[in-house]
Amino acid sequence: MTLNLVQAAYIVAAVLFVLSLAGLSKHESAKEGNAFGVTGMALALAATVWGVLDRSAHPLTTFLLIAVAMAVGGAIGLWRARVVEMTQMPELVAMLHSFVGLAAVLVGINSFLTEGDGADAVHSVEVFLGVFIGAVTFTGSIVAFLKLSARIKSSPLMLPARHWLNLAALVVSAGLLVWFVQSHSIIPLLVMTVIALAFGWHLVASIGGGDMPVVVSMLNSYSGWAAAAAGFMLGNDLLIVTGALVGSSGAILSYIMCTAMNRSFFSVIAGGFGQEVSVGDDKDYGEHRETIAADVAELLRDASTVVITPGYGMAVAQAQYPVAELTSQLRKKGVNVRFGIHPVAGRLPGHMNVLLAEAKVPYDIVLEMDEINGDLSDTDVVLVIGANDTVNPSAAEDPGSPIAGMPVLEVWKARNVVVFKRSMATGYAGVQNPLFFKENSQMLFGDAKERVEDIIKAL
Ligand code: NDP
Repeated sequence: MTLNLVQAAYIVAAVLFVLSLAGLSKHESAKEGNAFGVTGMALALAATVWGVLDRSAHPLTTFLLIAVAMAVGGAIGLWRARVVEMTQMPELVAMLHSFVGLAAVLVGINSFLTEGDGADAVHSVEVFLGVFIGAVTFTGSIVAFLKLSARIKSSPLMLPARHWLNLAALVVSAGLLVWFVQSHSIIPLLVMTVIALAFGWHLVASIGGGDMPVVVSMLNSYSGWAAAAAGFMLGNDLLIVTGALVGSSGAILSYIMCTAMNRSFFSVIAGGFGQEVSVGDDKDYGEHRETIAADVAELLRDASTVVITPGYGMAVAQAQYPVAELTSQLRKKGVNVRFGIHPVAGRLPGHMNVLLAEAKVPYDIVLEMDEINGDLSDTDVVLVIGANDTVNPSAAEDPGSPIAGMPVLEVWKARNVVVFKRSMATGYAGVQNPLFFKENSQMLFGDAKERVEDIIKAL
């Protein structure tokens, strides 16, 4: 009876998770999507705890153990969620992915230790694969965390024969799988765990800064498959469904990110792109021109079409609120203001959309890169607010550039471009930006939030 009710609750929760994903894929329905997700998760948790207590020989002890673990985990989660800055979100997400990986490793080893000698071959394969995916996700996510939080350099680790090393790790692990299934000894399982930990570390360490968006979405996908593997090992259907949903939606996101950066998925995984390059390269780009807020206000007053292309610097400066204010003032004056969002702007998929939604910028003027690029040549003023790599013309013009081939916002085609940043420093990919030296570009130096506020005052 209890089992049936738990299964029924799992089915309802799974449907809620699907509705949640569907809701989250559009601005307008994102809030409902979140509500579906929270409800599904609450139901899933309640049903799981109930099911476990029902089966336990010592329900009170079991309940206390679960309650203590949930209280500690919940308190840490609540604290982190409250204090985390928007700019630290990517590293927090990477850290959370590593926990899913570690959980799959622990569940797998626990499952092996508790089942005794009676395990069948199918279960052994589940344990082996679960531990493998979990270990790769664990160390891969830790490297991503270290790179995104700038604790280690984002340039790729280029070991000699690195592709052979990866291949060897896979082939040896396959051999260990056969040994494990036949012998049911812990030795091949532990040796594989060590290899998988090193493999995950190397896989992400060898991917360069420019390709990090794909890494983030790829690890998202891996964490889903790790959870699904844990679901198989625990015989928990909902965990299998949820893990598969996260795994496949992460894989779709990785595909979208690869298309956005014009890379093949395989070439990103194989690593080695986005090398540390030419921060202060010798090329003579000419002189840049500086401007001041009052002059930009003048330019905007005379404009009839304005496009704003935000980037990571807008998130750092928390400039979305004054940007929203500036947008609303210009629109009141009859200026056609729109936003152009590059798919990898910021440090998280959808980063800019979240910030603009938070500041209540109307959704209908926030356009994707492909929707706005065609209109840029007919635009009076483009305001590049804290964006750099995503508006870099060398991606289109210089085949030798590390970001060559990546589609970018073609802001240089507009009549006037104003670039808001604090210095002439490069963006995340470490590549100099010829946009800053173009004749129709002017630099407005300083913190983006302060400069936008200055423009609002001058208007
Ligand atoms: P970039 O990271 O290329 O550049 C951001 C710019 O913002 C910097 O050049 C910096 O210049 C400026 N900046 C920083 N702080 C401020 C401030 N307070 N006020 C004004 N300007 C500031 O940004 P983009 O968004 O154009 O590109 C994103 C990059 O991140 C891409 O290379 C992408 O591949 C990568 N990435 C994206 C992920 C994603 O999922 N979206 C994940 C991981 C990486 P200065 O220091 O001179 O002020």
